[in-house]
Amino acid sequence: MELWFTEMQSKSIKMSYRVKDVLHTEKTEYQNLAVFETEEFGRMLVLDDVVQLTMKDEFIYHEMMAHVPLVTHGNPERVLVIGGGDGGTLREILKHPVKEAHLVEIDEKVIEASKKFFPTLSVAFEDPRAKVFCEDGIAYVKKFKNYYDVIIVDSTDPVGPAVGLFAKEFYKDIYEALTDGGIFVAQTESPFYYEDLLKKVYSAVSDIFPHAAVYTATIPTYPGSLWTFTMGSKLIDPLTRDISNIPDLNTKYYTPYIHRSCFNLPAFVKAIISK
Ligand code: SAM
Repeated sequence: MELWFTEMQSKSIKMSYRVKDVLHTEKTEYQNLAVFETEEFGRMLVLDDVVQLTMKDEFIYHEMMAHVPLVTHGNPERVLVIGGGDGGTLREILKHPVKEAHLVEIDEKVIEASKKFFPTLSVAFEDPRAKVFCEDGIAYVKKFKNYYDVIIVDSTDPVGPAVGLFAKEFYKDIYEALTDGGIFVAQTESPFYYEDLLKKVYSAVSDIFPHAAVYTATIPTYPGSLWTFTMGSKLIDPLTRDISNIPDLNTKYYTPYIHRSCFNLPAFVKAIISK
């Protein structure tokens, strides 16, 4: 009998993956967690029936989450990831000579599952510069003033415990927690399916930060494939940043050319944030 996992990509669109094996399922305090071995995309992490990552394309999202803000900053020493319990974004951050890389994940079961099923991502947790806090990122960030150089919000979709990670109040707390040259970035979903969310987040970020910018990447297993990231910067203009000295980061998607071009938005995405 054939096994398929189906994700509702919107109210009227389904995407199905043929599954070779169901490796793990559990109901955590916060969400339903599953790990599948899929035929086309390899091992897959699923939370509340939504694909979080697959072994075949996770590098695109994690490289773009980490390297675009860290390179834009130029010399980050303390970096925070909110969410991201699989460790993929942390792994990419640790390719930079940062002093501390902290991760605050609300659901420790995601970290446990990653350690068991995704060793090439969870390897990041073994780095002595990495420190993990299992608590709500919304409350965590309120405790800091002028502390982190870069804050990355690697969240699930805006449902359940992640709703507050897309709110203006939270971005204000992030602004306070950042150092003077601080940079913030959040994954802001598909411009096809979450147009209103992208518009709302961009508007909130540009009200709070002197510089706001959106960049995109193409991620095959995320709904619509074209994905957005929204950046807020306290000092540096991300669009004119000199990036001529980018070190080799051993990446498969991110390059200096991608860094420059990812801020060049398709006209319809530009229209969403300009309205
Ligand atoms: N790349 C993924 C995507 O967009 O599909 C996101 C991956 S990562 C697994 C998202 C994590 O955010 C989840 O493990 C979830 O538990 C965590 N999370 C959700 N709300 C949170 C909150 N309020 N504080 C900290 N972590 C949160």
